Amino acid sequence: MAKISLKFLFFSYFARSKHHLQMPNLQTHIKFLKNVGEKRAKLLESELGIKCFEDLLYYFPSRYIDRSKFYKISELNGQLPYVQIKGRITRFREEGKAKGKRLVAHFQDDTGSIELLWFRGGSWLKDKYKLGIEYVVFGKPTVFNRNLNLIHPEIEDFKLLNKIFYSSLQGNYPMTEKLKNSFISSKLIQRLQYNLLQSVANQIVETLPDFLIEKLNLLPLKKALVHIHFPQSVDFLQKAQFRLKFEELFYVQLDIIKRKLRTKRESEGYIFSQVGHFFNTFYKENLPFELTGAQKRVLKEIRINTAHGKHTNRLLQGDVGSGKTLVALMSMLIALDNGFQACLMAPTEVLAQQHFKSLQELLKGMDIQQALLTGSTKSKERKLLHKNLQSGDLQILVGTHALIEDAVKFKNLGLAIIDEQHRFGVMQRAKLWKKNDKPPHILVMTATPIPRTLAMTVYGDLDVSVIDEMPPGRKEIKTIHAFDSKRLRVLDFVKKQIEAGRQIYMVYPLIEESETMDYKDLTDGYESMLRVFPAPKYAISIVHGRMRPEEKEKAMQLFVKGQTQIMIATTVIEVGVNVPNASVMLIESAEKFGLSQLHQLRGRVGRGEHQSYCILMTSYKLSADARKRIETMVRTSDGFEIAETDLKLRGPGDMQGTQQSGLAFDFKIANLVKDTQILQLARDHAEGILQHDFQLQKPENKLLLQGLEKLRKNKLIDLGSIS
Ligand code: ADP
Ligand code: MG
Repeated sequence: MAKISLKFLFFSYFARSKHHLQMPNLQTHIKFLKNVGEKRAKLLESELGIKCFEDLLYYFPSRYIDRSKFYKISELNGQLPYVQIKGRITRFREEGKAKGKRLVAHFQDDTGSIELLWFRGGSWLKDKYKLGIEYVVFGKPTVFNRNLNLIHPEIEDFKLLNKIFYSSLQGNYPMTEKLKNSFISSKLIQRLQYNLLQSVANQIVETLPDFLIEKLNLLPLKKALVHIHFPQSVDFLQKAQFRLKFEELFYVQLDIIKRKLRTKRESEGYIFSQVGHFFNTFYKENLPFELTGAQKRVLKEIRINTAHGKHTNRLLQGDVGSGKTLVALMSMLIALDNGFQACLMAPTEVLAQQHFKSLQELLKGMDIQQALLTGSTKSKERKLLHKNLQSGDLQILVGTHALIEDAVKFKNLGLAIIDEQHRFGVMQRAKLWKKNDKPPHILVMTATPIPRTLAMTVYGDLDVSVIDEMPPGRKEIKTIHAFDSKRLRVLDFVKKQIEAGRQIYMVYPLIEESETMDYKDLTDGYESMLRVFPAPKYAISIVHGRMRPEEKEKAMQLFVKGQTQIMIATTVIEVGVNVPNASVMLIESAEKFGLSQLHQLRGRVGRGEHQSYCILMTSYKLSADARKRIETMVRTSDGFEIAETDLKLRGPGDMQGTQQSGLAFDFKIANLVKDTQILQLARDHAEGILQHDFQLQKPENKLLLQGLEKLRKNKLIDLGSIS
């Protein structure tokens, strides 16, 4: 009895003293870590977002340097990357005056000597490093004053090296300029990681359930974190990376799929139970051509999707010219057949008008009330339109952003279609679904194919349909790369095309930072074209961002009607314009365009029966990336392949659609471009788990629920706003 209470006393005393001493844990403020303090803590937070121990622990090296090899000084030359040498300092010398002052150390091994050079902290370093002691020096050999040097090298006492921490693969942590200037180096971060692991490694708890760790043969979390900072071998490093990447991707997928399942289960949608009069009449009497297999398949997917009372959120991807408009129209007819209204929203006035016109044509002879609503709809007309929309007399509304204004109220909007969705922000879309008590079914159409990996993450909660087949009879667009020096020949070719009755696009880049210069390029180009293609034999339209919408519209219309043969423009024509008679897309300074932009532009031609051409004009000076973009364009017209290449060249953060989608892509270690296989694995496992336990209520899934909560709290990715 007495014994027990004694033990108890000791225990509680220990517990209290522990509390008193504030034993650090993973949530402890970073300033309490050895070698940090207030000042460095502030910098770590403002520069790297590191606030607590855990934040630092998850700040990973971006690359590793192999330090298993020691070079001999006699082997060194200025072409080598970072090297490691072993030897002794034989003497110090100070050189230069004032700002040019520097400290030079002669460093020697048994094969020769080299100079170590510092431009800062000279006297302090002179005291720190001793003559005659064996040091390991690490740095990049450079030639300075015609001598081979190592400038600001890292120096380590060879004897102490093994006692502290040393792995042959040394992590290199990404640093900012400001940190470097404040003497917070990658090396210091490494030391901090070491201090951190010394003090709290035992508190790292596993975040993945045993069954996953066993099945996938993953390193346990603690081990993975140790080896990511201090890999004992390449093998361990790879295992650590795999484990951490998997975990990161896995939780994001778990989150996305869980939300998707929940939305599917919970959100009611309108039931389109039948296909009726409108659809059938259109199919039998108005459809101008046979649907492609892909169009049929997608229509079926939409049909099944909307028949069961679950809310539909579908992304329809199809390359330019693949016939998305027809699918949109026929889906709208199904909505109408079930007594609902439908709307089609386009990003620009020109596009909205074009859609409206083609719908009118396609629906000719059918008793369907349609209207167009854009910013330039007159207020009298608008009033009538509002009234008819609310009474239900108006069945199909086509328009621009004007559709989502509060004044626009539907009687019963059953289907909302958004064309070229990346032009619309999430908020705008959300507004559209709020036009009813129940959200209308949503179909977003895009011609910018989204690579699978990205789609899984950005649109993981949407159903995706793909039109992967072009209407028959399309001729492949011939894509040609021409240097500026070939301009005369190119213009000659253009002339012949015009003489054969075709129309031509000439597009100039528009880069926001140098808008004035681009504008000059455009107007210069216009003037020289006026000389090459003089009136009255030729007529040229010009369209650019500085024109008022009415002016733009007028110029576009002239070209659409065939009254001008040449359309000179900036990328404003990128989206959707349909002029089947146009056969040449000539792109000036093509090296300045992004891949998906080039692909979109090319899609403006080849829309009719004529053989079409895309000519990419560039200067001789091309960056490696630009060369790759041009090569890709010449080689393929497969939108998905182009999108994949684009993603590889630019990284996911820059992809169209990701910025507006409001998603953060700050993965700590995973890379959406390179880690596709791990992503697929993560997705499969997340799906499998949720299939059996959607609520994650089973005991073995308890950890997963905690992990998800943490992910959502950290808001790594907020998918709640996407639907
Ligand atoms: P996008 O997918 O780029 O929006 P569109 O819907 O504008 O493509 O279609 C491009 C062109 O192809 C239009 O002129 C359209 O009439 C035509 N088209 C669409 N579907 C077919 C089909 N099944 N067969 C033949 N032509 C088609
Ligand atoms: Mg279209």
